[in-house]
Amino acid sequence: MRIPFIAGNWKMFKTKAEAIAFAEEFRELYKDTDVQTAICAPFTNLEALKEAFAGTEIKVGAQNVHFADEGAFTGEISVSMLEEIGVDFCIVGHSERRQYFGETDETVNKKLKKLFEGPIRPILCVGESLEERDADKAFDVVGGQIKADLEGIDAADVKKLVIAYEPIWAIGTGRTATPDQAEEMCAFIRKTLIELYGEEVSDEVIIQYGGSVKPANATEIMNMDEIDGALVGGASLKPKDFMEIIDF
Ligand code: PGA
Repeated sequence: MRIPFIAGNWKMFKTKAEAIAFAEEFRELYKDTDVQTAICAPFTNLEALKEAFAGTEIKVGAQNVHFADEGAFTGEISVSMLEEIGVDFCIVGHSERRQYFGETDETVNKKLKKLFEGPIRPILCVGESLEERDADKAFDVVGGQIKADLEGIDAADVKKLVIAYEPIWAIGTGRTATPDQAEEMCAFIRKTLIELYGEEVSDEVIIQYGGSVKPANATEIMNMDEIDGALVGGASLKPKDFMEIIDF
C-alpha cells in the first residue's frame, strides 16, 4: 500500500524569516495524519525548516540540485550539501526549470542518478504543454519524458521515486486538469512504469498530481484511484490552506 504524499512547492517565495513564521503557524495547525507531508522550499530556508519541523513528521525538500559531486559550477548546490542538512526530498525537472533554466531530460536523468546514490528521494516532474495536449500528444510527451528521465536507473532505486504529473497548462493558472484527465495520465504513467520495471516495482512508486491544487478541489483529486498525492504550489504558501489540503 502506498502512503498518500502531499508536498508543497514554494518556488521562489518566502525569505528565511517568512519561512520560520510559516513553520511556527503550521506546526500548531498540523495534526498527524496518514498522509506524508513535505515542504519544498528555497535553499536558503532548508536548514531553518529542518530545525523548525524537528520532532514532527513534516519533511523538507529542495527544488533543484546539481548532478556533479563538486566543482567549478558557480551558483549551484550539490547533493551532499543537501544531505548534510538532512533534506528529505528534492524536486527534479519541474516544468519551470525545463522552460526557463535549460533543464533537459538528460540533466534530469543525471540528477536522479546522483540523488539515488544517497538517501534524498527525488520528486520527478513531468507534464505536457497546452499545445501538446491540443495536438493529442500529451501521452507521447509524458511517456517520452519518463523513459528518457529514467534511462539506466535500477528498479531498486525506482521504488523510492515520486513522480508528479503536472500539466504545464494547469500550473499557477487556476485551471486544474479535470480529475478524469489527471486520473487518466497518472494511470498511463503507472502503465509505463509497469512496462519498464514490472508490476512489483511500479506498485511502490508514488504518483502525484500538481497544478492549481487548492482546498476546494483537494478531496476530489485525492480520492481518484490512480492519484497518490499532490504537489501544491500557490496553495502551500498559507499554513491554513496547506493544512486543509493535507486534511482533505
Ligand atoms: P500551482 O503550482 O499549485 O501553483 O499550480 C504547482 C507546481 O508548479 O508545482
